[in-house]
Amino acid sequence: MSVDTVSLTGWGRTAPTTAVRFRPRTYEEAVVAVRGRGPRGVVARGLGRAHGDAAQNAGGSVVDMTALDRIRSVDPATGAVVCDAGVSLHRLIETVLPLGWFLPVTPATRRITVGGAIGSDVHGRNHRTAGSFSRHVRALELLTADGDVRTVLPGTDLFDATAGGLGLTGVILSATLALRPVSTSLMTVDTVRTADLDEAMARLATSGDAAPYATARIDLLARGRATGRAVVTRGEHAPLDALPARARRTPLDLRTGRRPAAHALIPEGLFGRTADTLLNELRHRGTLPSRTGELRSVSAFLHPLDAVPDWRRVRGTGGFVQYQFAVGYGHEETLHRIVRRLVLRRCPAFHGMLERFGDGGPGWLSFPAPGWTLSFGLPAAMPGLARLLDDLDDEVAAAGGRVFLAKDARLRPELTEAMYPRLPEFRALRRELDPSGAFTSDLSRRLAL
Ligand SMILES: Cc1cc2nc3c(=O)[nH]c(=O)nc-3n(C[C@H](O)[C@H](O)[C@H](O)COP(=O)(O)OP(=O)(O)OC[C@H]3O[C@@H](n4cnc5c(N)ncnc54)[C@H](O)[C@@H]3O)c2cc1C
Repeated sequence: MSVDTVSLTGWGRTAPTTAVRFRPRTYEEAVVAVRGRGPRGVVARGLGRAHGDAAQNAGGSVVDMTALDRIRSVDPATGAVVCDAGVSLHRLIETVLPLGWFLPVTPATRRITVGGAIGSDVHGRNHRTAGSFSRHVRALELLTADGDVRTVLPGTDLFDATAGGLGLTGVILSATLALRPVSTSLMTVDTVRTADLDEAMARLATSGDAAPYATARIDLLARGRATGRAVVTRGEHAPLDALPARARRTPLDLRTGRRPAAHALIPEGLFGRTADTLLNELRHRGTLPSRTGELRSVSAFLHPLDAVPDWRRVRGTGGFVQYQFAVGYGHEETLHRIVRRLVLRRCPAFHGMLERFGDGGPGWLSFPAPGWTLSFGLPAAMPGLARLLDDLDDEVAAAGGRVFLAKDARLRPELTEAMYPRLPEFRALRRELDPSGAFTSDLSRRLAL
C-alpha cells in the first residue's frame, strides 16, 4: 500500500487541507489503514469529484480507494454486478454496456467511484423514475471503526445511514449492484428551447415516463423577459429499431467522443461572465426551437462534461463553489426568487441545471426529495459570495428545502438539522457504531454531522 502526505481539495479546488493518504490495493490493507489512523481520524476518498470538503480530513488520514478497482463478477443473465468500491462508473459502463446492461443511475459525470456514488447517494437526470444510486444497491461490504467488515443489506439502519452517509459510517469495500437492460448505447433525445423559467418548468413537469431522463440547462445570465430561459432535453435509451442500419451492426459500442485537442487551446481561466454570456447566447440561438428523436451517445447525453478533460482549468485556478438545492412542489416561488436574485446581482453563475426529483430514498442524509433541484457554479473569488449563499440557504431552509452536502463547501451548521431532519438518528447511530469518532472529515467537523 502506498502512503504519502498530500494536500487535497474537492472538485471546486477551494479550502485545501493536508492529510496522510493511504492507497490500499486489498481489503486487508484497507483494514490496516483504518486501524492505523491517527487521533484526527480517517475518511474514504474516491475520485475526488465531490465539490467541497466531504473527502478531506485535515491533519488526519484519507483512504484513497481508487486502487481497489476490481470488477469481481457480472451476471449477464440477471445484470447483477459485484465490484470493489474504487471502480469508476466509467469502467463499469465500459464493461457492462457491451453485454446489454447499463447503470440505472449515473450523475452528470461517470468519473466517480462506486463508493463515492453510494457515499453521496448520487442522482441522475432520471431520478423521477429511477430514484437515486443506493436504490439499486443489493448489498455492500462495510469496513467499520473496529476493523470488522460487515455485510450491509437494504432495509437496515446501517444501510440507510451509509447511503448518502458521506463516508462517516465506514469504508465501503465492495458492492452488489442491479443493472438495467438496454438494447443500444444510444439515446433518443428531444430538445426544446424555452423563453423563460416558467416555460422550462412547465416542459419538465410534462415529461412523461416515455422520457425518463429530463433536464433543463438554465441560462442564469440572461436578463429581463429572458430570465431563466433554458434548453430542455428529454431522453430515453434508444431501442434497436431506432438506429440507422449501419449503427445496428454495433449497437452497444460505447462512443465517448473526448475532445482534448480543442480544449488544450483554450487559455486557463478564460471563462468568466463575458465568455459565458456569449456562449449561452450562441447555445440558445444555435438550438432549434424544437427537435425530436435525435440520436445521441449515452456519453454525449448523460456526461457531456466528461468529453473535456479537466474542464475546470477554463474557470481559472481560484476555484469555484457549486451550489445545489432542492425545494418541494408548492415552493416554486422560492426557485423563482433565487434565479431572479442571481440575475439581478449579475452573478457569474455557470452550468445552471434544473431537474425534478421523484420520491426520496431511505438514506438518512440522502439529498433528493420530491420537488425541484437547481445547481450552478460560482467563482470562489466572487465578491459577496459568502453572504449571498448564506441568504440563499435561509430561503431554501424556510421553504423546507435543503442543499446537497456532497457539493457543499460552506453551509452553516445550524441549518443542517433543519434541512436533514433525520440527522439526530444518524448521529445516534454513529455514536453507537463508532464511539471514538474514528470516521471524520472536514465536512463532518464543519457541519457537526
Ligand atoms: C462534473 C460533475 C458533475 C456531477 N454531477 C452530479 C449529479 O448529476 N448528481 C449527483 O448526485 N452528483 C453529482 N456530482 C457529485 C459527485 O457525483 C459526487 O460527489 C460523488 O460522490 C463523487 O464520487 P467520488 O468517487 O469522486 O467520491 P469523492 O468525491 O472522493 O467522495 C465523496 C464522498 O463519498 C465518500 N466515499 C467515497 N468513497 C467511499 C467509500 N469507498 N466508502 C465510503 N465512503 C466513500 C467520501 O468520504 C465523501 O464523503 C457531480 C460532480 C462533478 C464533478
